[in-house]
Amino acid sequence: MRDPFSLYITAPRLGAFVSRKSIPIAALAHSARTRRPPGRARARLGQNFLIDGRIARRIVQAAEIAPEDHVLEIGPGRGALTRLLAARARRVVAVELDVVLARALRAKLADRPNVSVIEGDALTFDPAERFGERPYKIVANLPYYAATPIIRRRLAAVPRPASLTVMVQREVAESVAAAPGRMSFLSVAVRLYADARVLFAVPPRAFRPAPKVTSAIVRIEPRAAPAVPPDTAAAFLDFAAAGFRAPRKRIRNSLKHGLDAPAERVDRALASAGIDGARRPAALDLREWTRLFAAWSETTC
Ligand code: SAM
Repeated sequence: MRDPFSLYITAPRLGAFVSRKSIPIAALAHSARTRRPPGRARARLGQNFLIDGRIARRIVQAAEIAPEDHVLEIGPGRGALTRLLAARARRVVAVELDVVLARALRAKLADRPNVSVIEGDALTFDPAERFGERPYKIVANLPYYAATPIIRRRLAAVPRPASLTVMVQREVAESVAAAPGRMSFLSVAVRLYADARVLFAVPPRAFRPAPKVTSAIVRIEPRAAPAVPPDTAAAFLDFAAAGFRAPRKRIRNSLKHGLDAPAERVDRALASAGIDGARRPAALDLREWTRLFAAWSETTC
């Protein structure tokens, strides 16, 4: 079966953030450990540091951190959000891939005993190691090259975070929170587990170095249970991915190609779910996707 969390990450639209080819995360992690002049931002690690204190305060405010909260910050960088989080939360665990930055931040926040800066990869980090069964909230200005897999992994893993308040490329935020008509595979993959809304946009000038694209804060609130039984979630996502394989085509044709299935079986599933096969994949809402998946699972060749 396809690995939904492939360790190769493609960044087709990230412009300034990263080159367009696939990047093995292991190679990034290695390069993050190598020696380099301190202070220089590494584009390959999505290092666009937030320099606007007002935006930092808005993000932390939007995260609604209470004094008893445990917070996971991904990619704290130079700490634009970390100190603000530490002032509000009971505990902050900050995972940073860049060893040079992680060590500098640990020294900088030595006066904050409720902050742990961990040198590590957010894609492989297991929050349960630090938080156990305790609920936790994610707050982050995410490295954009890895934003989507980080969000998806944290939603798929149990225990899920109580909330994610994260800065991502604006197009990604809009896709995560899209309404039917503008849905993408990412919308379906996130909404399977959570509700989402875009809070506000952040212009390139709020960062150094400034990226070429606009960013946005998206708030993701996981529900108690996914929209399909948990043991079918991976199969559901494979099904939805197949449905979006040709997003501009009608759902009937996109599914037929994506699933490499006979047209009659696809037609039977569509009819049984009460969905017009002439609609586009982006038009279906989450309930229609789950209904179609259930109908598909019940049909045979
Ligand atoms: N939070 C800081 C801020 O707002 O200025 C830095 C945000 S910067 C967009 C993303 C940060 O994530 C960088 O510090 C980068 O080194 C770090 N990073 C990149 N890939 C990572 C990964 N896989 N795991 C953890 N941190 C990562």
